[in-house]
Amino acid sequence: MEVKIIQGTKQIGGCIAEISTSKGKILIDYGDNLDNTDQILIPGLTIKDDLPSAYKAVFITHSHGDHIGCASLIKKDIPIYVNRESMEIHNNLCYFTRSYKKVLRVEKNNIKFFEFNKPIIDNNIPKVTPYIVDHSSYNSAMFLIEEDGKKILHTGDFRNHGKKGSLLTKVLKEIGPVDLLICEGTTLGSENRNFTKESDLIKDFKELLKYDQIYFMCSSTNIDRIVNLYNSFKHTHRFIIDLCMNSITSKLKNIPNSNTFSDVITFVSPKQSKIKEPYQRYIRHTNNVIFDLPFDEKFAVSIKQSMEDYLIANKNKIKNACFIYSMWDGYIDPSWQDAKLRNFIELLKNELHMDFKKIHTSGHASKKAIENLKKIVKPKHVIVIHTIDSSEAKEEAKEIFGKSLLDITDGKTFNLEDL
Ligand SMILES: [Zn+2]
Ligand SMILES: [Zn+2]
Repeated sequence: MEVKIIQGTKQIGGCIAEISTSKGKILIDYGDNLDNTDQILIPGLTIKDDLPSAYKAVFITHSHGDHIGCASLIKKDIPIYVNRESMEIHNNLCYFTRSYKKVLRVEKNNIKFFEFNKPIIDNNIPKVTPYIVDHSSYNSAMFLIEEDGKKILHTGDFRNHGKKGSLLTKVLKEIGPVDLLICEGTTLGSENRNFTKESDLIKDFKELLKYDQIYFMCSSTNIDRIVNLYNSFKHTHRFIIDLCMNSITSKLKNIPNSNTFSDVITFVSPKQSKIKEPYQRYIRHTNNVIFDLPFDEKFAVSIKQSMEDYLIANKNKIKNACFIYSMWDGYIDPSWQDAKLRNFIELLKNELHMDFKKIHTSGHASKKAIENLKKIVKPKHVIVIHTIDSSEAKEEAKEIFGKSLLDITDGKTFNLEDL
């Protein structure tokens, strides 16, 4: 087998791995660059050219935009293997961010849903087995690619301090030693990463029960977090989510949503209720919708920047309130190019007098988690992707993997037999 990291040895997000086998080439992930620059076009892969394609299939690890965001551009004759829920989460989010072009459509794309732990049986492609992995995106996958007794494991984004953390060790033991490990290294070389266990966040959330009004902000795709928020507040506060969050959670089995949970409410602000699509369509299909918050009662509500006008208009009703920021710190760091979120939070703190609380844990692997992975799958060779381009990151990767770490750059092909 031959491997080429088309992109990803020195950037977080937008990583693309190419694996060539006797049955042809496959790609793993085709998502957006996080800095909003255009994704590189791979000749023959997308509808943007008429060139013949060298690719037998594209495999998508999970629903985050930096992994799936460009998949809708893939030519119809190339199968896209994806988890059903991952695709639904991505598509729903696209409607709310008005990224309609990114929606994966069965009529336009050649979608094939995979099942975890089951090798994909298709004579046209190499043997690939998807395994479920712990990450801040629901039903994330890692892939094992096998040919002629050689094994390549591509982790996708992962961690082991979330709900599926213990499952990871079990799965890795089943996989056993691999020849090549393609491993995410998002947190390598960076300080101040928080790897609190996802389940321990409940304790922090519950300390806020003294507030009558709890406003929280977390990613609508971070399902573990939404479940923890629900479990923390449901007994004492009305639990209210926004329409985008409900559009995602209502598609998943047994995840808090106002369509099937009698104690969950969906809030649509007056401004949002005037937006035609997708709001009108989703409002029609959502139960338990309110257009005004129950300020006389205790509640916990997910908020978005688009609710700013509504909150300002109701300033006098906001009392004994806190705001939980439950997302990555980087978005509100002064170095982040977009100041809108930062300004919104300043407004919540200073003008609406909400007590500001940061409660979050990383969606990515700690050094310890990567060491644990290494101990179990004993890789002969390692490539780190989804990593920052810094000497600190390289040093830390070397510390963990030693001589097995391959010094490769984007676009360089190497043969597993030659190593
Ligand atoms: Zn990612
Ligand atoms: Zn991710």
